[in-house]
Amino acid sequence: MLMSSWVETANDPQCPFPLNNLPFGVFSAGDAPRCATAIGDKVLDLAALQKAGLLPACGFDEPALNTFMAKGPQVWQAVRDRLTSLLSAEHEDGETRLQVTSALHEACDVRLHLPFQVSEYTDFYAGKQHAINVGTMFRGAENALPPNWLHIPIGYNGRASTVVVSGTEIRRPLGQTKAPDADMPSFGPCQRLDIELEMGAVIGLPSNMGQPVSVDEADAMIFGYVLLNDWSARDIQAWEYQPLGPFQAKAFATTISPWIVTKAALEPFRCPTPEREKPLLPHLRDTGPMLYDIELGVSMTAKGGAPTVISQTNYRYMYYSAAQQLAHHSSSGCAMRTGDLLGSGTVSGPDKHQYGSLLEMTWGGKEPLTLDDGQTRRFIEDGDTLALHGHAQGQGYRIGFGSCKGTILPAFDS
Ligand code: CA
Repeated sequence: MLMSSWVETANDPQCPFPLNNLPFGVFSAGDAPRCATAIGDKVLDLAALQKAGLLPACGFDEPALNTFMAKGPQVWQAVRDRLTSLLSAEHEDGETRLQVTSALHEACDVRLHLPFQVSEYTDFYAGKQHAINVGTMFRGAENALPPNWLHIPIGYNGRASTVVVSGTEIRRPLGQTKAPDADMPSFGPCQRLDIELEMGAVIGLPSNMGQPVSVDEADAMIFGYVLLNDWSARDIQAWEYQPLGPFQAKAFATTISPWIVTKAALEPFRCPTPEREKPLLPHLRDTGPMLYDIELGVSMTAKGGAPTVISQTNYRYMYYSAAQQLAHHSSSGCAMRTGDLLGSGTVSGPDKHQYGSLLEMTWGGKEPLTLDDGQTRRFIEDGDTLALHGHAQGQGYRIGFGSCKGTILPAFDS
């Protein structure tokens, strides 16, 4: 059910930011970046509310949410309850409401920043259809799924240094590639630039080195979720990835949406992981529904054209949840930090229109996409814009994530 707010634009059933959502982000309005939530078509300055004594001191005046995220589930819930009360339609129209009103900004007038300082970034590979599609193209159908895949959520350590907020322009990567019939590799701009449609789990509570966490403990450590585009250089990846996995093909950029949608907002949309094809070892077994029913999509705007929706899928297709990935990540004794970001892996559904990368949609570039404006694409060209979108659909309301987009600039030219 939609929770009604006195910020009236939040009550539109299509609005991504109703009172039920209350995501957390960082904004500025020509001044210093600080923490915020989104409500309707407004952004609410949490630093101003903290200063007025309407919220507990949680570092909301800082340019990142890490201090708040480190405080844990009880404080997260107390702040959410307080904001819900302050913004509810039932909140009486008095002095407090005037204070809150004075902390509201028009969303179209502010700049949104990276919502948290990314401590470390790990990317998983937990979508089975994606793993089968890519494995088939890279190694053949018989060897598509690696032998470990049904037993552990496999992943690699990515780069936190190049995680950027939606709207940041992305420079086409340079790298070493080798054509199958060439004797020697060559160095130059990526020719097969791609996206990966993913969800990112944001870690709030840290864990100790040497101490594994259970799946339940892992779920409790997660602060919330963002949309994540794991930009990928397929030609660089194909040459470099064996035996240690992706490296430069992924290290140049990862884009996330500006709002962290909390686990509390997503609670009504929990759903189970798909049926196991092989039983998991006890430390990775689900103890309850830990995936979420989140509708996801990708739109592509070729340079000078109009946006075309090229994929529509759902987070529920993943084989492993973020909690299972986090439990696996800590299982060796690896310490997790506040601000760690876990990429889910590309979310590809079973049908072709549900694939989460151009590599899969065009089957390695063999079947070009035709966009609504008539332009065709195998991979991304300079000046193209790719945008991820996502929301959980409730009865009479939706929980949105905001935009996750980037435009490609030509490669660095020395
Ligand atoms: Ca990925």
